[in-house]
Amino acid sequence: MATAISLEQEINPWEAQSARFDFAARKLNLDPGIWKVLSSPSREIIVHFPVQMDDGRFEVFTGYRVQHSQARGPGKGGIRYSPDVTLDEVRALASWMTWKCAVVNIPFGGAKGGVICDPRKLSQGELERITRRYTSEIIDFIGPEKDVPAPDVNTNEQTMAWIMDTYSMHMRQTVTSVVTGKPINIGGSRGRTEATGRGVMVMCNESLRYLKMPREGCRVVIQGFGNVGSNAARLLFENGYKIVGIAEYDGGLYNPTGIDIHQLLGYKERNGTVLGFRNAEAMPSEEVLLNECEILIPAATENVITSRNADRIQAKILIEGANGPTTAVADEILAEKRIFVVPDILANSGGVTASYFEWVQDRQGYFWKEAIVIEQLETILRDAFEDVVRYSEAHNVNNRIAAYMLAIDRVAFTIKQRGIYA
Ligand code: GLU
Repeated sequence: MATAISLEQEINPWEAQSARFDFAARKLNLDPGIWKVLSSPSREIIVHFPVQMDDGRFEVFTGYRVQHSQARGPGKGGIRYSPDVTLDEVRALASWMTWKCAVVNIPFGGAKGGVICDPRKLSQGELERITRRYTSEIIDFIGPEKDVPAPDVNTNEQTMAWIMDTYSMHMRQTVTSVVTGKPINIGGSRGRTEATGRGVMVMCNESLRYLKMPREGCRVVIQGFGNVGSNAARLLFENGYKIVGIAEYDGGLYNPTGIDIHQLLGYKERNGTVLGFRNAEAMPSEEVLLNECEILIPAATENVITSRNADRIQAKILIEGANGPTTAVADEILAEKRIFVVPDILANSGGVTASYFEWVQDRQGYFWKEAIVIEQLETILRDAFEDVVRYSEAHNVNNRIAAYMLAIDRVAFTIKQRGIYA
């Protein structure tokens, strides 16, 4: 795959996506026309919009919504708020959504949005005004049958409630199915908030079963303690895994005998950080990742495992709770070390799968019990895991390439069936 490239190129998410896509497309012998179609997003919206800040001044923010493919259904994918969002990043994330929805075989294409802002420095009022204005700027391009946003890094159910309300005001009627990840009382689904974390646990269970490794004493290190990381940590802890390390953006924790995640969640709730938690040793986050463990779960953002640290990873299994945590160069190093990788487009697909259930429930106006959501979610994820590992065995490729091949094949088939409109 990629050789002799600069670190800057290595950590560009669009380059990372394209490297894997091209490799898988070549292996699939993909039709050159379809290859071209899927090589770039179908639509990229860039908006610069003004917002009045609490102190009265006007600020201009930049937002993106990229729709990579709508061949298999409406675009689907989160919106992230972060000071370093770039168009290339949103492009990559949008195409990862196309592949992710195809891997779990749900009827969506792929899209993603982002707004350049630092939520830590914004008041609730400012965040609400940014969200509403951004929504109105992209309103012609979203909708239950067009493109359905969801939460991502630094956005949550409150953000989704504002988007739903803004869209509904413009449409002159309440349209709950325009976004997923909403609060339960306004059309959200039970089980959606922890669905990505639950999916990560399913992947841990399935990997251990596949590799014939015991769950007892299975040591886990988790990077990121936001929605995905904290829910994965809690569920894994409750199901007998030993969480030995937590790496957060502001510092890490390590305890070889296991961290009590219920205690840690309470501590973070009270203090707003995991730092200072007494029942574990403080350790820089970069070092936490390198500890001996059976399972490593990057669950924050991109480029955590690169050519700089991949050779020092000691885990046997890597479950990518985040999108794009591993660079294409690092893939090769992990492969040499025979680390079993469950790639992002499979490992974190629990979130969008539960989003699919939310969209279905909103459209039907009939809401499921949590047990039904969990059962359907686990069935889809176990089947997808099985599809990917069987594909990898049959084609003699690693799990990541197998997942891409499976997804590209499904999307390509649909494009051929629909034909090209002229
Ligand atoms: N942001 C999540 C992801 O990257 C969820 C997307 C969705 O539910 O549409 O998969």
